[in-house]
Amino acid sequence: MSSQTKSSLIGLTRDGLKSALAGMGVEPKHLSMRSSQLWNGMYVQGATDFGAMTTLSKAFRAELGEAFTLRRPEIATAQVSADGTRKWLIRFAPGIEVETVFIPDEDRGTLCISSQVGCTLNCRFCHTGTQKLVRNLTSAEIVAQIMIARDDLREWPRAGRNSDDRQITNVVMMGMGEPLYNFENVRDALDIVSDGEGLSVSKRRITLSTAGVVPMIPRAGEEIGSMLAISLHAARDDVRDVIVPLNKKYPIKELLEACRQYPGLSNARRITFEYVMLKGVNDSLADAKELVKVIRGIPAKINLIPFNPWPGAPYGCSEWEQIETFGDFVNRAGYASPIRTPRGRDIMAACGQLKSESIKQRASDRIAELRSKELSQMPH
Ligand code: SAH
Repeated sequence: MSSQTKSSLIGLTRDGLKSALAGMGVEPKHLSMRSSQLWNGMYVQGATDFGAMTTLSKAFRAELGEAFTLRRPEIATAQVSADGTRKWLIRFAPGIEVETVFIPDEDRGTLCISSQVGCTLNCRFCHTGTQKLVRNLTSAEIVAQIMIARDDLREWPRAGRNSDDRQITNVVMMGMGEPLYNFENVRDALDIVSDGEGLSVSKRRITLSTAGVVPMIPRAGEEIGSMLAISLHAARDDVRDVIVPLNKKYPIKELLEACRQYPGLSNARRITFEYVMLKGVNDSLADAKELVKVIRGIPAKINLIPFNPWPGAPYGCSEWEQIETFGDFVNRAGYASPIRTPRGRDIMAACGQLKSESIKQRASDRIAELRSKELSQMPH
């Protein structure tokens, strides 16, 4: 088989990996051992070829290489911001691309990963929202984003790093797409990312952000159990209906009720409410008062996000003083309310600026394209 047609083992769940091995004839009694060895090779060592997995016999490595690869998707472009933020445009297949961002800080490094190519939500202030949904990412494609980042940051032990000297300490599902509209794949991917014998990013250091898909929040609590962030952005339904249209389906009261029920909340385990500061839209003192009123009783932290501009955006960012006044009020009401420093704006890597050129081709367009190709190949 050519290496292009062989499939990659990266991103299979543990069960998926076992079935792949069973499929190539590994005996049931050896499955558990072999898959653990492979898991370690892939996610602890970061091996990119089976030859490097010296805990496996030479013959078995050769067999694996015949059937599978450890290939990562292609990096279409990689950019580095003046502030050290990195952004990769990752190509899974022609026209299927997403962006992944790494934000280094003094005390941590956060990888922001995407769950969908495009998005269905159309939040008015979000650049990704102007790109139609092309498709959901598979769990393997979600995991591949962290593999690529670790490759590029040279974070594997073979590059001389030990595990307490990591650059990627936190993962946020805050890239392109709505993770709760791709639930199973996101869940499986985060299980792989948090596996203690593998990539080992604990669920307490993984944050899933949702625009408020209320019916999926209980399942996220039970089946994923990561930290939860809510893109709230307004405390009144009339405002939120406009800027986050999903609010018309799941209004604020229902959303906050689902938050109250989220398992394991305490002062040490709070919900993050994201609040983008839009000039003249949601940034008045009255808005701050309303916000504090509606979230009362929820262990929460409010992340104030200065609006990041993008070409054609219908909003502007609130004045700095206005953001501070808003933040002070929320803070005095007892909630941590950090103002998020915009990172990577110069490479369009900041919150809400991500977008890829991928477009979903309509079946009719695809057929027309094929026809015209056939025609052009016909002898004249
Ligand atoms: N769909 C999920 C995941 C995306 S997270 C969600 O909505 O939570 C991306 C975060 O950036 C969200 O909080 C989003 O509302 C915010 N955001 C979008 N556009 C922005 C912009 N232009 N400036 C600042 N934040 C923005």
